[in-house]
Amino acid sequence: MANFDYDLFVIGAGSGGVRAGRIAAGYGARVAIAEEYRVGGTCVIRGCVPKKLLVYASRFTSEFEDASGFGWTLGEASFDWTTLRTAKDREIDRLEKAYVANLERSGAEIIRARAVVTGPNSVRLSDGRTVTAAHILVATGAWPFLPAGVPGIERAVTSNEIFDLPALPERAVIVGGGYIAVEFAGILNGLGVETTLIYRGEQILRGFDREMVDKLAAALTHRGIRILTRSDIVSIGDGDVGPVATLNTGESLPPSLVMYATGRLPNTRDLGLEAAGVELDAVGAVKVDAWSRSSVPSIYAVGDVTNRVNLTPVAIREGHAFADTVFGGREVLVDHGLIPTAVFTTPELGTVGMTEERACATHEAVDVYKAEFRPMRNTLAGRDERMMMKLIVDAISDRVLGVHVMGEGAGEMAQLLGIPMMMNATKADFDRTMAVHPTAAEELVTLRTPSVKHRR
Ligand code: FAD
Ligand code: NDP
Repeated sequence: MANFDYDLFVIGAGSGGVRAGRIAAGYGARVAIAEEYRVGGTCVIRGCVPKKLLVYASRFTSEFEDASGFGWTLGEASFDWTTLRTAKDREIDRLEKAYVANLERSGAEIIRARAVVTGPNSVRLSDGRTVTAAHILVATGAWPFLPAGVPGIERAVTSNEIFDLPALPERAVIVGGGYIAVEFAGILNGLGVETTLIYRGEQILRGFDREMVDKLAAALTHRGIRILTRSDIVSIGDGDVGPVATLNTGESLPPSLVMYATGRLPNTRDLGLEAAGVELDAVGAVKVDAWSRSSVPSIYAVGDVTNRVNLTPVAIREGHAFADTVFGGREVLVDHGLIPTAVFTTPELGTVGMTEERACATHEAVDVYKAEFRPMRNTLAGRDERMMMKLIVDAISDRVLGVHVMGEGAGEMAQLLGIPMMMNATKADFDRTMAVHPTAAEELVTLRTPSVKHRR
């Protein structure tokens, strides 16, 4: 390795790259990490973190509404977007500095430049230098995808711009039915923006448990989001007071901010990978093996750029496993099989394991235990929103195959439910667990009779 400038050159200081660089440096490797934008990457700068801050902001609306049922009298509430945006920016700056400090403390060198691969062991930097490394790690993430052939689409924003809007619009139209579209519909609706969600398919959040999504969609509609399924925008005109979206149904929506959240593509454009012999798949993702190694043995890739499971904890785990394996002298594989996840709408959706549909397709006998109830908090609040929990159980082995929760704290519950699920917990294990009373989560350990029994 001594003949190279570095033992490891990481391209991209996001979730995966930072973790890999830090851990490899900790093992004594000479590490450089190039970042063309801001250290921290998508999650910290314009993803999970600022998104969750906006989610918190959006939830005060219903907190204020509910307070009177508990005896509170409040003055008229008002919301100031600039105050929130400025506070959010301050927090992101703080986090970016912490990421930089941690990287530097580990001994990794941060290079503020765009990097392009020029060969199996060489990288060209936008500051004009070319450097060499025994290993290159591509951790360049993903970028919002905009569909082609929609006239006026340049008038739309993506998740890249939404965090820094100069002002909050009166109305917004969001295209897409995935995590980002649905979460931002919740955020904008909560902040008082009249919000329409446009999804091309039959039901939003394709791939999640269908019954849970039906309940969630109904709850979001009840909270004021207009959800149009089997719909798409065919053009975006230039109205006097904002973009005017025309739908495939012929309907023209009133002038609104238009946001596209139609997926993200791996960030491999003009990165020099193909010329260096790195194989990419049809959408441009770096093809890797279970060790995150590409078709060129000295080049590895982790995180969204590999388009495996595009979540921050996964990118971090992949980056860590890469560093352990290549520099730490111990082989670590990442298990992509069981990943808890949450959609941070209000109400929230938390999930781990199989959907009812998937369980029925793969198992002979499936029992479904359900609880749907009005959480205690909603009684005095006068809110009729219900909470839903669902346990999917293999009726033959008694193993819990999936757990789905809709309601307050669902994301937090999904995280903890991930542990028994990883340990192959059975329904009997859930049953013998004592409840914490009074909580909503206690329902998960007090479900005794299946609501549905599927038998092949
Ligand atoms: P990134 O974090 O995207 O980092 C890639 C970095 O590489 C970037 O900083 C980029 O500037 C840099 N880069 C790219 N090309 C070059 C180059 N040639 N030279 C130098 N630098 C380069 N995940 C969750 O788990 N939970 C959530 O709640 C969540 N919310 C999200 C909300 C939004 C709006 C978005 C967009 C994403 C969200 N995600 C969430 C997904 C999460 O952000 C990604 O999965 C994660 O950031 C992927 O990490 P990464 O290291 O692969 O890439
Ligand atoms: P997703 O892949 O989750 O969703 C994309 C959505 O856009 C789907 O509903 C898809 O429809 C639709 N779509 C795709 N192409 C078109 C098109 N040409 N015209 C109309 N609609 C289209 O991507 P997101 O952008 O929402 O998020 C990217 C990823 O970031 C997520 O998959 C997730 O991994 C991560 N993320 C995680 C979060 C979390 O953990 N809470 C939050 C935010 C992001 P269809 O279903 O029909 O294909």
